[in-house]
Amino acid sequence: MPRVTVWNEYRHEKTDPAVAAIYPDGIHTTIASALGEHGIEASTATMDEPEHGLSPDVLGSTDVLIWWGHLAHDEVGDAVVDRVQQRVLDGMGLIVLHSGHGSKIFRRLMGTSCNLKWRESTDSEVLWNVAPGHPITEGVEENLILDQEEMYGEFFDIPTPETLVFISWFTGGEVFRSGAVYQRGAGRIFYFRPGHETYPTYHNKEIQRVIANAARWASRNHDVTQKFGNPAPLMPPGS
Ligand code: ZN
Repeated sequence: MPRVTVWNEYRHEKTDPAVAAIYPDGIHTTIASALGEHGIEASTATMDEPEHGLSPDVLGSTDVLIWWGHLAHDEVGDAVVDRVQQRVLDGMGLIVLHSGHGSKIFRRLMGTSCNLKWRESTDSEVLWNVAPGHPITEGVEENLILDQEEMYGEFFDIPTPETLVFISWFTGGEVFRSGAVYQRGAGRIFYFRPGHETYPTYHNKEIQRVIANAARWASRNHDVTQKFGNPAPLMPPGS
């Protein structure tokens, strides 16, 4: 069973009553308990804990890290970003949610700005499943509809995904690559768009299913062994 840590900046919930009404114990707690309903044990970590809750011990026993951040990307210490990046290269899975597109760790791993267009309005979102048969879409229908969400629009400045899992359409007319798979080093990475803090998106059972699927999928490389260095030839010369 994958060992999952759900990391949340945990600022909106403390300062905006509208967000606190939806996520009284924080987005991280809602996601962790949803994973529990899918049989995945998840612990949580937040920005204002020492080392942002991501000590070497915590990361060393994490197979998949889930990341939600927005207001305070710049407050995440570079030493912690370095540590998370190294764990991903060593095989830890990383699931980056919604406004986490702007996090230091995601931009570092992608190598691009990860910038996009956005609008907080009355858009509905249709996520089209464009990777039927992929482990992340197991049990997911042809599409998934969210009555209200923030719009994210193209151009989204990411590297071309290794697998595109979802494409979103918004009532304003925009489209967006809303589920994108990458590997960096041994680590499996999934970016998943939905989850603006003023909408109850992480209470949606279908969204929860995608995150649980992604956690299982992303955990599978956690014990990959990579060898580097300067070995003797496998076939000795002249043999
Ligand atoms: Zn948002």
